[in-house]
Amino acid sequence: MESSKPSFSRRDFIKKNSLAAAGAVLASVVSKPVFAAGLSQVQTPAILGGKAAWSTSKWPEWPIWNPATDEKQVLEVLRSGIWSRAEVVTQFEKEWASTLGVKRSLAVVNGTNALVITLNQFDIKAGDEVLVPPYTFIATVSSVLSNGAIPVFVDVDPETFQMDPAKIEAKITPRTKAIMPVHILGLPADMDKIMAIAKKHNLLVIEDACQAHLAEINKQKVGTIGDAGCFSFQNSKNLPIGEGGAIVSNNEKFIDRCYSYHNFGYAYGTAVGAVSSGCIIQGTKLRFTEYQAAIGLAQLKRLDSQTTTRNENAAYLKSQIKDIPGIIPYKLYDNVTRAAFHLFPFRYQKNAFSGLSREAFIKALTAEGVPCSSGYATLNTQPYLKDTFESKNYKKMYPADMLNINTYNEHNKCPNNDLLCNEEAVWFTQNMLLGSKTDMQDIASAIEKVHKNSAQIKKLGKR
Ligand SMILES: *Cc1c(COP(=O)(O)O)cnc(C)c1O
Repeated sequence: MESSKPSFSRRDFIKKNSLAAAGAVLASVVSKPVFAAGLSQVQTPAILGGKAAWSTSKWPEWPIWNPATDEKQVLEVLRSGIWSRAEVVTQFEKEWASTLGVKRSLAVVNGTNALVITLNQFDIKAGDEVLVPPYTFIATVSSVLSNGAIPVFVDVDPETFQMDPAKIEAKITPRTKAIMPVHILGLPADMDKIMAIAKKHNLLVIEDACQAHLAEINKQKVGTIGDAGCFSFQNSKNLPIGEGGAIVSNNEKFIDRCYSYHNFGYAYGTAVGAVSSGCIIQGTKLRFTEYQAAIGLAQLKRLDSQTTTRNENAAYLKSQIKDIPGIIPYKLYDNVTRAAFHLFPFRYQKNAFSGLSREAFIKALTAEGVPCSSGYATLNTQPYLKDTFESKNYKKMYPADMLNINTYNEHNKCPNNDLLCNEEAVWFTQNMLLGSKTDMQDIASAIEKVHKNSAQIKKLGKR
């Protein structure tokens, strides 16, 4: 793992990463805390005017870029003048597929469109329902709507933050076409159970692995377990290229169709021969570029060791905070052999913190030099759903009773997710997990400091 930590300001981070899709949250990377001066000087919570527990050094920067090792191929591409999709993209696709242990990979403009193309080429369209978790980034759900289908929300297991397999079957109807498990936060969803349910009901499984690069279940990489998997290479993601995405699958005909669709519908692969040239299916243009692929190849070299570091640090941090009252770290399913830890999540229970609100807790911890956020808002209740249902296309595709937003909301309540989003979830970003073991101890100490002073913070703080 890279040891250099160039200095790096919060503003730089926001500038670099804030258009972040998932990541909006990441926005607050501040000073790395150090208890060097001894606890006595920092007893007063920083939020109440005391000294921040840490201020001297910095959290690891993101994204990481090392000119000496990373720039050769990028410069070659730039100087070649071949910038549109060609051999370097193909090389990246081959390496991504072999890294995951899957037959094929198609690189595309971003993770959002990887999902859109995948649903489209599995013919998920008007009248179809797709089961999604509410605890995810908007793109999971919008990809269903982009194809004219209806997202149906399956509540989460609050211990793992993942779609709860025990709640899936109750949501299956004759219109259900696919399950879209999201390995959210980089923690694998319970694929053994999800695959069994899909098999029983003859449903497709499309994995949103946009946060879960190299995560595994039973030693198999997530994204390669279902019918197809989708990845994102947006700047905040564990494999950052600025923008980018990939579809992976062992179904070669499906990937050939995706290729064709992402390239104007021109004949490709298995389709060539049947029709030698021209546009054979309805398509669009969502191609990756050569310089993106060159950046990706450079980033790919460090992904495995970074993933190991994140796993080690996450396990250690978990062990350090699990006994603090009111702090309940994530749980991994027993079949998980590796996680990606795009984020480190825990649940915050204010009763153990003198009733201090989660927002006040987050502010207090951030003031100590440990940035964190409350994560996602409830996706199943936002106005985009009503907006879509009132659109011209949807009104032509569906009978009015199926577009009744009140009935829809009634069928899509997710109380566990409400609790996570509105009250309990707290995240640390993945770059923090690239720090040292001492950094992890410091995070734990900061939480302990806020815990110890929670009554005072509640009394004297603004909220
Ligand atoms: C980031 C993300 C996406 C979308 O990927 P982009 O590359 O930003 O378009 C989709 N789903 C999840 C869960 C994500 O985190």
